[in-house]
Order: sequence, then structure tokens, then C-alpha cells
Amino acid sequence: IGMAAGDGEPVLQSKSVCVVGGGMAGLAAARELRREGHAVTVMERSGDVGGQWLYDPRTDAEDPLGAAVPVRVPSSIYACLRLITPREAMGFSDFQFLPRDGPGRDPRRFPAHRELHCYLRDFCNAFGLMDAVRLNTRVLRVALAPTSTTTTRQWAVRSVRRLGCTEDDEAQEEEEVFDAVVVATGHYSQPMLPRDIEGMGEWRRRQLHSHSYRTPEPFRGETVVVVGCGDSGKDIALDLCRVAREVHLASSSGVATPAVSRMLANHGDVLRLHPRIRRLHADGHVEFVDGSSVAADTVIYCTGYTYSFPFLDTGGAVTVSDSGYVVGPLFEHVFPPSLAPSLSFVGVPRKVPVPWFFEVQARWVAQVLSGRRALPAEEEMLRSVEEHLRAREAAGVPRKLTHNIGGVEREKVYEFGEKYSDLAPLEE
Ligand SMILES: Cc1cc2nc3c(=O)[nH]c(=O)nc-3n(C[C@H](O)[C@H](O)[C@H](O)COP(=O)(O)OP(=O)(O)OC[C@H]3O[C@@H](n4cnc5c(N)ncnc54)[C@H](O)[C@@H]3O)c2cc1C
Repeated sequence: IGMAAGDGEPVLQSKSVCVVGGGMAGLAAARELRREGHAVTVMERSGDVGGQWLYDPRTDAEDPLGAAVPVRVPSSIYACLRLITPREAMGFSDFQFLPRDGPGRDPRRFPAHRELHCYLRDFCNAFGLMDAVRLNTRVLRVALAPTSTTTTRQWAVRSVRRLGCTEDDEAQEEEEVFDAVVVATGHYSQPMLPRDIEGMGEWRRRQLHSHSYRTPEPFRGETVVVVGCGDSGKDIALDLCRVAREVHLASSSGVATPAVSRMLANHGDVLRLHPRIRRLHADGHVEFVDGSSVAADTVIYCTGYTYSFPFLDTGGAVTVSDSGYVVGPLFEHVFPPSLAPSLSFVGVPRKVPVPWFFEVQARWVAQVLSGRRALPAEEEMLRSVEEHLRAREAAGVPRKLTHNIGGVEREKVYEFGEKYSDLAPLEE
């Protein structure tokens, strides 16, 4: 549909767009697509919006390492979690994340996880987004529709809508055709497990991924080894210190950062730092690469998450490679050159300020779909992706950091905002 154009303005197109995922990225996409005049349908597999911030006390209990794809429970948030980002930096550009009065609200600057979920609901209500959202609706397949032509692509989206409360309840499947699909399914659900630990398959005691950790209670009185010293590893180790007999933190560097040193100073009675694990022994011993070992009851892998799009059928045009760390090819981490602009991704980059970065990406997608902005030619986009990979390789940056923008080239975060959107820059 062509929209009325002002003097000298391009004729803008309104497209029907399916957004897969109703987390922070999907909601940013819905808002920006609507603002640009598109017809939006958000499909969200959970019973509410919010993505990770919809805390779920259930876990993938029958599959604690998260080997099944997709995992049954999308959220990886644990009960004690507080934001590591101050609320001032975590609001949408025109809807600040301000403290609010009311039952269950948390006015702190670094509030507990529930406060962010409340805020995302407030955001949906303020902009009437919920009428675009279909809850309990899991996307099963996204593929080019037979109606596609060489010049105009369309996408067939098959989804299943749960009619009851549990995953096993009666479900209704349907297939619809959209002009465009925005993938916003996040990358904090599908566990990444270490590949260099021997004996994981033979270990008969408890082992789980942090995706399935909620509270410390099940580990009361145990000796627990926590693998990984990232944000989750540190949080979970501290949480366990309250109830466990001993907590052994295995870090890939084996060196205490200032935060870990502080943890050791405060909890030296139960907490120990070790280098990487070499092997799990069938008798319950965990052996570290320095030759030391402990007899453990449980090993918890806080080793991050992999990209995974099991519903996406692009005939090989977009793949996940490098052990789950890289999605590609994606021009500027958003558009697959051969399928742009009708297929796009919001939320692939890591270490970026959100939701601001999601808004920039989403506004760019919305404006390219409407015709307000143009993309370079397919070959040029591909060249840009290859250049990015080559430049990173030349600088000695490991492939697993391909989508890590903020941690590797911080200035690119702001450059991206300036180049592709008219959104006000984020304050330092
Ligand atoms: C433990 C933990 C702590 C964190 N702490 C912080 C923090 O303090 N500050 C910060 O900025 N960030 C933090 N993050 C990162 C956080 O995840 C992002 O800030 C942000 O929430 C990601 O949003 P998203 O929409 O990209 O992904 P998600 O929040 O994961 O949302 C994706 C959505 O897609 C849905 N979905 C998936 N597959 C399908 C399908 N096939 N069909 C339909 N729907 C589907 C899921 O149900 C989910 O709702 C944390 C993450 C974790 C795991």
C-alpha cells in the first residue's frame, strides 16, 4: 500500500510484518514498525511479553543441560537477579524507566528483575502495543512463500497457538503470509556448553546450565563447582554462598578480577577460585588444569548462550556457524543481503546498550521497509560483511566476538545510531 506523500517526499509503503518474539527487541520493533505505518503482528511463545524479564520459576528440569532445541522455558533469569545496568540507561528513548509507586514496584536504581518486566508492560500499555501481540504463539517455521516473485518476496509463517496453560495443552496451528519478517528471538535461551572438559558424559552427579538455575535452595549443604566467571557465574556463586557447604568458581583465566577478589574477601570461608576444569571423574572428583581437584555434588555451567533459529528455513541463506557464535551473513548484524529487506534481525549484537540499540535497529528496518531509506546493493552488503570479518581477524579478535560490538569497538555503537537512524544519541 502506498501512503500519501508530502511535497518532494518519497511514496512510503505500508507492509504487513510479522515480528517473532515479544521481548525487549520485539517490542522495540513493533513500536518502530507501527510508527512508520506498517501493520504489525508480534508472535510470542510465552504467556506474556518481556522475554528474559518474564521470570519463570519452572525450568527445563528434564533437560538441565539444555541439549534440546528449542529449550522449553525461554527465560534464563534467576530469582536473585538485579539489573547490572542503571535504570536511566535502560529506558526507551521516549519512555523513561522512572521509579513508579505501586505494589510490587522497586524504585532502586539497579532494581530486581521484576521491575523491568513491569516497565515493559507499562511501555506496551502506553503505546497500545498489546493489540499487536499474540501470546502463547510459537513460530514453527518461517520460509519464503510461494507467492514470492523475483522482485517481491513474501514469507509464510507457520505458528502454533497454545489454548491451555501448559506446553502440552491443545494447540492450534496456522500458516499466514507476510510481506516481511523481523526475527527478535534473543540469544539468552539456548545453552552453550564447554567443549574442552573431558568426562561430562560419564559424570553421574548433578550438572546443569545456568539457564536452569533459579534459587540456591536445591544446593543446600552441597559442594558446588560453578564454571565461568561472567555476570551469571558471579551472581550464582554469590547466591550459593548463602547455603552451600563449599562453592568453587572455575574461571578460564584463573585470575581474580577486582569483582572476584571482593567476592573472595567477603566469602573466603566457602568460596574458592580455580582455573579451568580439565576433567570430571566418574567418582565425583572435578579436576582443574593446575592438577588440583575437589569432590563435588553439582557442576553448574555459566558458560553463556548460543544463537539458534530452529524455525528459520532460508535454504542456507542465513546460518549459525562457529559453534553457535556467529549468525550470517548479516549486513550490519541486521539484514541478510540476499533476502533484505524482507527478512531482518533485531537484537543480534552483544554488549550494546538496550533498548536504545534495538530501537535504532528497528527504526532502520521500519524505514527501509517503507522506502524512506535505501540499502546498498546486495554485493556491496556482502562485501561489507566480509570486510567486517576480515578486519576483526586482522586485529586478532576471536570469531566468537563477531557480534560483540560494545566490548570490541565501543565507538561503533554510537556510529551505528548516527548512520542508520534519526534517534537522539545515547548520553555517555
Ligand atoms: C541472566 C541474565 C541477566 C541479564 N541482565 C541484563 C542487565 O542487567 N542489563 C541488560 O541490559 N541486559 C541484561 N541481560 C540481557 C537481556 O536478555 C537483554 O537486555 C534483553 O532482554 C534481550 O531482549 P531480546 O528481546 O533480544 O531477547 P529475549 O528477552 O530473550 O526475548 C526473546 C523472545 O522471543 C521469544 N521466542 C523465542 N522463540 C520464539 C518462537 N519460535 N516463537 C515465538 N516467540 C519466540 C521468547 O519467548 C522471548 O520472549 C541479561 C540476560 C540474562 C540471561
